[in-house]
Amino acid sequence: MAGRVELCVLASGSSANCTYLASGTTRILVDCGLPAREIARRLAEISVDPKCLDGILISHAHTDHFRSAGTMFAKYHIPVFTMAETEDAILGKPSCGSFWRVRDCRRFPGNLGDISIETFEVPHGGGARDAGRPVGFIFKSQGQRIGHVTDVGELPRPFIKALHGVDALVIEANYHQPTVRKKLRDPAFAGDWMYLSWVDGPTGHLSNGQCVEALGEILTDSTRAVFPAHLSENHYNPRRDNNDFQTASSVIALQVAGMGLRTKIFRTYRREKTEGQRSELVKIA
Ligand SMILES: [Zn+2]
Ligand SMILES: [Zn+2]
Repeated sequence: MAGRVELCVLASGSSANCTYLASGTTRILVDCGLPAREIARRLAEISVDPKCLDGILISHAHTDHFRSAGTMFAKYHIPVFTMAETEDAILGKPSCGSFWRVRDCRRFPGNLGDISIETFEVPHGGGARDAGRPVGFIFKSQGQRIGHVTDVGELPRPFIKALHGVDALVIEANYHQPTVRKKLRDPAFAGDWMYLSWVDGPTGHLSNGQCVEALGEILTDSTRAVFPAHLSENHYNPRRDNNDFQTASSVIALQVAGMGLRTKIFRTYRREKTEGQRSELVKIA
């Protein structure tokens, strides 16, 4: 296994987020929004035993990111890491789920085994009590750099700069802005206007356009893989979709082609969109 870096987005979207990252000696999850048994099932498909995980990193205090952290801790004794403010926000929620079972929730370490971890604060959510202190990540291992950022209203400049030339990137492409703007003028969606204004605002989510704009500054010929993530698709009612993978990936593909790059775009899946599908396991090194 030495020298290998692997990445698999087990689920992505507003119902559940969970990404698996492995290096030569270390295996981690970024976010833990799927039910524990579903994490175990999807990991088994890629021949990973959850007992072998070295840590779970929680990006912020929304349920789709922390849902089963307590169960994973209690069942498999996997250490859980997040910001102090995020831990407080989760424990303050009536919907904190099993999180109370995480004994000694820890702060993000500089590294876990041979994966170094850098965090970047990002604007997202309705304040500290709602989202805690949200972060994105840059991981380094075996000479490879992997960026991971979802749930962000606007990407801060220093984060964009730090992401320049990453080898692989999981990045939010939450919504197609023209669709959301159209709904904001359509009385049929009046019930969603408050939510949609937040999504489209500076502490909401990243649109396809914002994602592509950032990619223009991030991608170089080192970047071999991009996973568009946290897409707002709705399996039960497509009318409520604010995005779909075809739309997001085609604008990203256009950007990649325009820059003369050969970066591959990998499909991610919403939890219930297509019966438990996950991204493929991508070998970064
Ligand atoms: Zn989310
Ligand atoms: Zn969120």
